[in-house]
Amino acid sequence: MAERIVATCMDRRLPQKIGAIADGIHVSNAGCNIAAMRDTLVALARQDKEIREIVAYVHTDCGAMGAVDDARNGHVHKYGGRIKHTLLDVFMGRSWKGRDDLERRENVGVQLKALEEIPALVGREIAVRVELIETSAIKVPEIDHSEFALLILKPSESSVPEAISKAGLKQFATYVVQLLNVSEALGDIELTINNLHVGRVVLGVAASSKAQTLSDKQTLKSAFPNLEPEEAYVE
Ligand SMILES: [Zn+2]
Repeated sequence: MAERIVATCMDRRLPQKIGAIADGIHVSNAGCNIAAMRDTLVALARQDKEIREIVAYVHTDCGAMGAVDDARNGHVHKYGGRIKHTLLDVFMGRSWKGRDDLERRENVGVQLKALEEIPALVGREIAVRVELIETSAIKVPEIDHSEFALLILKPSESSVPEAISKAGLKQFATYVVQLLNVSEALGDIELTINNLHVGRVVLGVAASSKAQTLSDKQTLKSAFPNLEPEEAYVE
């Protein structure tokens, strides 16, 4: 039983860093957007009565915050309706002075406020906090864009870098979305395909959840008819 839920951005540069600094049940989406992962957080905290803390790791040079800033600057048409609804609209009517201010101040505040609503929804006391990761401090090897992939996992205490390796994907090249239901991840997947131009989408399969994988695959196919999601065993 975990005592902590660790929420992060899906960014390809983060799994190794997060794995080194935080243990617990891992959850991730574009931008560490708590409002869009609320159902997952509430369900996990209700299931696991040992959970005493939820920590959200936002970061600098965040692609999702780049999209938020870009949309505010008049380019919302570049983004699909799903990510507009789940991420961009969260920041509508808010103000910030530029990308840096958005990432270091506004996003921290937005995510903390969303986290503070969780304990009442779960029905018990849970500590919440937001930490900022300086992405520039992470050593990231040069990787060709053609190797970038999106790995979709269920929330788990297992090591994310290990899941990336088991899926046959490359460290620092793999965006990771970790939510209970793939239907909660459609905006993040849309952003990854349309705006980050990631070619491969891989559904991580655990032996215990094969039936779930089939329904996830159908959900993906109906949301993105041109997508050919792959499957890989990650346990
Ligand atoms: Zn990010």
